[in-house]
Amino acid sequence: MALTPDEYYAHALAAADEDRRLPLARMTEWDISPFDPEGLRVSPLRPPVVPEPPRHGEDPADCKSCELRDEGIWFTDNWRLNRVQGVGVPLALMLRPRDHYDMADLTDDLAAELGVLSTHLVRHIQALPNIGRAHVYRLGDGGAHLHVWFFARPAGQRQMLGSWLMVWDDLMPEYPAEPADADAQVVADALIASYGGSREPTS
Ligand SMILES: [Zn+2]
Repeated sequence: MALTPDEYYAHALAAADEDRRLPLARMTEWDISPFDPEGLRVSPLRPPVVPEPPRHGEDPADCKSCELRDEGIWFTDNWRLNRVQGVGVPLALMLRPRDHYDMADLTDDLAAELGVLSTHLVRHIQALPNIGRAHVYRLGDGGAHLHVWFFARPAGQRQMLGSWLMVWDDLMPEYPAEPADADAQVVADALIASYGGSREPTS
């Protein structure tokens, strides 16, 4: 039988110390961890909050993504693409449906488009000579409107492999905007050539 939220919390507490801190393990011991285990400690566990508070934009009337449906560097009738500014990686792009959907609410036709578009985006980002790999993330704990992240890992940065990339991104100084904009345009143009769409909204 699945653990309830409170049972899951009790299960975690049983592995924690008297300050409710879990021991360091697994990822913090990888040599790609951005943190030296010496002096590092885990935050005290907090109890579950059920029901969970609403995310931003649960009501489409208050949703920023819906308001900005015509903002971006590439568009179809259904999708738009933005460059995410203020990041440490060389390029971060975000793909969103132009209308209000969370991932679980996509029609099968939109879900199929998302799969093909994600594949084309990964291909075009990885074709950039300064990029080692494109990582794809759908999280959705902050905003209700589906937003899929494409994070480009800098070529040769073996220390940034894998799931710590987003933390390294946050630690790194901001990547200069001019080359990031130029690379974003290369990706948008390649997407127009391989998939369709346009640089400006047409609907
Ligand atoms: Zn929305």
